[in-house]
Amino acid sequence: MIEATSKILEFIPKEAGVTRIEYEGSNIAIYSKKPSILINHGYLMTEIALKIKKRVISRSEPSERLDTEISKKKIDDIMNGISAPIHKFFDPAKGEVTLYLEKNISQSVMPALSLEIISQTNWFPIFRRYFSPFSKTITLLHGNLTKWEKERRQILLSLGDRVFREPINPSTNISLTALGGAEEVGRSCYLLSTSETKILIDFGLKPGFKKKIQSHPRLDITTLNIDELDAIVLTHAHLDHSGLIPFVFKHGFKGVVYMTEPTLPLVTLLLQDLIDVAERNGEIPPYNHFDIRTMINHTIPLKYGQVVDISPDMKLTFQNAGHILGSALAHIHITDGVHNILFTGDFKYGETSLLDSAYSNFSRLETVVMESTYGGPTDITPSKSQSENMLLQSILKSLNKNGKVLMPVPAVGRSQEVLMILDRFIKQNLLPDVPIYLDGMIEESTSIHVSFINYLSSKLRASYTNEGLNPFSSDHFINVNGYEGRQEVLSEGPCIILATSGMMEGGPVLEYFRNFAENENNSLIFVSYQVAGTLGRRILDGLENVIIPSKDKMLSLNVHANISRLSGFSGHSDRNQLMAYIKKISRSTKNIYTVHGEASKSLSLAKSIKEKYRINAAPLKITETISLS
Ligand code: ZN
Repeated sequence: MIEATSKILEFIPKEAGVTRIEYEGSNIAIYSKKPSILINHGYLMTEIALKIKKRVISRSEPSERLDTEISKKKIDDIMNGISAPIHKFFDPAKGEVTLYLEKNISQSVMPALSLEIISQTNWFPIFRRYFSPFSKTITLLHGNLTKWEKERRQILLSLGDRVFREPINPSTNISLTALGGAEEVGRSCYLLSTSETKILIDFGLKPGFKKKIQSHPRLDITTLNIDELDAIVLTHAHLDHSGLIPFVFKHGFKGVVYMTEPTLPLVTLLLQDLIDVAERNGEIPPYNHFDIRTMINHTIPLKYGQVVDISPDMKLTFQNAGHILGSALAHIHITDGVHNILFTGDFKYGETSLLDSAYSNFSRLETVVMESTYGGPTDITPSKSQSENMLLQSILKSLNKNGKVLMPVPAVGRSQEVLMILDRFIKQNLLPDVPIYLDGMIEESTSIHVSFINYLSSKLRASYTNEGLNPFSSDHFINVNGYEGRQEVLSEGPCIILATSGMMEGGPVLEYFRNFAENENNSLIFVSYQVAGTLGRRILDGLENVIIPSKDKMLSLNVHANISRLSGFSGHSDRNQLMAYIKKISRSTKNIYTVHGEASKSLSLAKSIKEKYRINAAPLKITETISLS
């Protein structure tokens, strides 16, 4: 560090008033009294980064920052006539202020505005677009930044020490162990180890199972000591990838979790709901709200394409996975290019209404760990237009008979996709003028989506950032809350209801289903993947008599409602898309392990890859360890 400090100081003009240089997470932070001087010197920061081969950031010395109330007024003055900030959130641990703006501002004026705000206040602005209604989860997360400033600063500093430690063991033994999400869908978790570093990719739970041995990742088979764990890398917010991360913190994990920026509010929302659902069902949740807060404080949010050192021998880069908002392919580069490994997480190699297709431009991949949810030979999903037509016909079938339509949807991903399609149907007069009720966390999840509109598809960005319209709003959408609201919906005429949870494992969807299932004029439409063992999957597989809890007793229902499954809205690649992705990366890839699929599908996909592209491919088995070096 001393060497790096003197190299940095050579470059910096004296008038900037540098006070200290620190490792902060995977960055080197230069604190100064007048950071605007550094920013104003054009390529200075880039030059320093190139010289010392580390990411360098500029920070203002906290004592030199203007009081937040005065800063708010100054910022309002600077932004006056350009775009009013509706919300201003200060992060004292980093000296940043996030501004949610009424109107979009062009990229070309941003540098000058930033510089003006920094020179007048010593706070670094981050510009985001404001949409109404504003997410409560994002407000809560920003509140956390101020409240836990000291703790977060400490976490960032100790992370710096950890990431830039002198390597103890430079040998290159690299191994991969499947602790979950192998020959199954659920509890995704892979341990990647070198002699120097140990990280987990995802730490999810398996829905539909109560016993720990079936629902938790198999930490019991490793000798992994939680103190040796450097980091957790989270590919996306869904609970089968994220659901038990706070549990690791509950058991003493002191490291950090890397995830993309939008994943943090989405995962916070889903984890909090997991606790609430467990408590409502009279179960003991695996962790509490304090453990979620600990996770939040230990989270390092990243952008797509940002390369970060996560230990002395590993660099991480996230790229768009096209699955849900913020979903990421995790690329890990080990020991200066000795080994490149890609974890696809859940990914979609194809456009959806919501997101662009998954990134595929990798120059070298020694190992790919790839999902195979739809890896079976017959897992070919209909095209987007066919799927939309099938959805329309399934809905009309019930509405024409004065029935109701119930769609169990996960709060994150499919709900927003379906909302946009339904809105379009109504605008095109394809659907009658019926109310569309949204229940569960759909409204909040949708607010998070619009706060991160830059992560949505290029088409959506182009049409909505400028106009300032919320792409998910419509006069036909009505949010429902509480028991009485639901009873009102049920007592009324034909309608469409979107409710969580997507696999019918709990949540408001069950309340509708109880009053709904026995009427043959009604329809139950599934648009997302149903994990084996969940109620949704059992109904899809033909279960006619369903027993579900109702208040204090168990209720037996004979299902007469129409059941349809529409796989074309999935956020997963179908078999053809999985094979097309392999084709795209085949020249740069050496070994592929298929995961996150039922055993027969993971095996079938691996066999086809081997036959067609002559790449080593095999399904990863649960608890199996593979040597990659
Ligand atoms: Zn997922």
